[in-house]
Amino acid sequence: MGVNMVFPCNEIKKIAWDVLQNFDHALILREDDPLLPAILGVYEVQGIKNGAPTNMQKGPAFTTELATAYPECRLVVTKETMTVEGMIKIVYDLLKDKLNIAKITFTSGVNGAVQEYGKEDHRMGQKEKDRCPLCGIMLNADGTCPKCGYKKRSS
Ligand SMILES: [Zn+2]
Repeated sequence: MGVNMVFPCNEIKKIAWDVLQNFDHALILREDDPLLPAILGVYEVQGIKNGAPTNMQKGPAFTTELATAYPECRLVVTKETMTVEGMIKIVYDLLKDKLNIAKITFTSGVNGAVQEYGKEDHRMGQKEKDRCPLCGIMLNADGTCPKCGYKKRSS
């Protein structure tokens, strides 16, 4: 599992790891998995549902629209079937407010997925800027409207 970010530094690693360690050696199950109640039952019986002394490496508990983490019993319950694409969605959702994410890469066995962020927004902004404010059509490369002759003022 790997997460690539724009500015790799220790602080970013720490922020990402805080969240990601919830998935490290954790059991990841879909919320409607028939195993889920059985597993919680076993944890209950063994008295480790709310934590075990050996479980030293805990991430913060989180609940998003896509997943809920129970760090005390090393369990993550997801809304969707766990795929590399789904994993990227969950991780992006968790980290997007904390980090400026450009790209997330996930690999799991032979499966891999890459998702890039931010490029589309940039393209959209660029497009808006290069439209004629009078006709709404795209300006020429030299910033002139091919219909009405409006010329973009250089700022
Ligand atoms: Zn025009």
